[in-house]
Amino acid sequence: MTAISFDNSYARLPDRFFARRAPTPVVAPRLIHLNHALAADLGMDPEWLAGPAGVEMLAGNSAPEGADPIATAYAGHQFGNFVPQLGDGRAVLLGEVVDRSGRRRDIQLKGAGPTPFSRRGDGRAALGPVLREYLVSEAMAALGIPTTRALAAVVTGERVVRETSLPGAVLARVAASHIRVGTFQYFAARGDIEAVQALADHALARHYPEASSAEQPYRALLDGVVARQADLVAAWLLVGFVHGVMNTDNMSIAGETIDYGPCAFLDAYDPRTSFSSIDARGRYAYGQQPGIALWNLTRLAETLLPLLAEDEGEGVEAAEAALAGFSPRFEAAYRGGLALKLGLSGDRDAAAALADDLLVRMAGNRADFTLTFRRLCDAAERSEADAGVRDLFVDPTEYDAWVVHWRARLAEEGRNPAAMATAMRAVNPALIPRNHRVEGMIAAAVECDDFGPFEELLAVLSRPYDDQPAYARYAEEPEGGGVGYRTFC
Ligand code: AMP
Ligand code: MG
Ligand code: MG
Repeated sequence: MTAISFDNSYARLPDRFFARRAPTPVVAPRLIHLNHALAADLGMDPEWLAGPAGVEMLAGNSAPEGADPIATAYAGHQFGNFVPQLGDGRAVLLGEVVDRSGRRRDIQLKGAGPTPFSRRGDGRAALGPVLREYLVSEAMAALGIPTTRALAAVVTGERVVRETSLPGAVLARVAASHIRVGTFQYFAARGDIEAVQALADHALARHYPEASSAEQPYRALLDGVVARQADLVAAWLLVGFVHGVMNTDNMSIAGETIDYGPCAFLDAYDPRTSFSSIDARGRYAYGQQPGIALWNLTRLAETLLPLLAEDEGEGVEAAEAALAGFSPRFEAAYRGGLALKLGLSGDRDAAAALADDLLVRMAGNRADFTLTFRRLCDAAERSEADAGVRDLFVDPTEYDAWVVHWRARLAEEGRNPAAMATAMRAVNPALIPRNHRVEGMIAAAVECDDFGPFEELLAVLSRPYDDQPAYARYAEEPEGGGVGYRTFC
């Protein structure tokens, strides 16, 4: 019996797109967690996956029948510097499966051992980052944000050496694809226009089928990626997410959030927040993300210039026109989202002005981002609930001065308060992966082999928009507002 029916459309692209490479086996794989619901969506048998043969496959110890494992080639701008060859240095793409709704999805093992692209790295992943990616990517999915998914995590029984010796793990990651801005850059940097075109055709067929039949398919491809990235970054901002390492090799052509390294969520609202230890200058800070997305998309557009028009001037014009679509699309998604977070559906400009005013006050008062918006849902229903929001401001009178304008606006819109509060709760999560909780979960697993906190947090974060009174502690802000929190990847 074949447990999984693999197809390998990417492996059918020309040889220079990848290196054929099977995962490197590990000594003693043990399943940490299997995503049963996702496995079923993918048409896989969860019982088989959780059994001995499934775990062997998830650890990379046995290549499943029909798989054609590869490491893909890509380049990328890392913190603004172009690196012509990166590629999957520790990830192996087992192949693609077509899921129950007919979507083609990559199954990739991250931490599966060295590949020709590993350079100096060991090709492995430490348990902590694997658990962070598992938890945060699944939390993002539950929040309704496009993202790669986590199918399973296994510990390897081997140690990996970072600053210290750590338990190793493998993450089985599911993605619409692993084609990145950096994949286009890899071929463009080599002057391999034929490969850029083959990649663009593959991406069109796979992710933008409606664009394939457009009059100018490559322009339509660029428009499509611009639109999806504008929407994605707006969605990040609306839940306080900081990706942390928005290098062009970490930006997906399919428009999913990908490569959870030093990512983290805001506690106190401050657009200058950057958590990553390797981002001291804040290139990838919370508020920088729209600008960086556009910068990355501009790098993508450059790779497509030869395809956009035979005449160079016309190509540049088309690229500029496509890129000009980013800001209006982003603003509409972000402003519209903020209005919904405030329960407003009428006058767009009035809602935007109210939101801006609130955000400035939150930043000045180190108000917790998630709690402010969640508690506003209660305040929309009854003004006595203002006390809970005021408490979040260093100077509560700054909230008092704002809330009168918000109430006036709500009154003008005249919606039913209870219905409005319900609508607001559907867009203002109660539960996000709080950094201090993620750290606690990782410490328990790494230091004590205790996966209880991982299981509990994962379950709680699968329903982020529900109040879960028994787990109220997971909604709380960290002591001191999380100042100085640092992530390492
Ligand atoms: P990332 O920072 O995870 O986006 O990775 C950037 C590049 O470094 C990619 O080409 C990775 O494949 C590579 N890389 C990261 N960690 C390792 C590792 N442990 N071994 C080999 N390559 C790695
Ligand atoms: Mg990689
Ligand atoms: Mg990466």
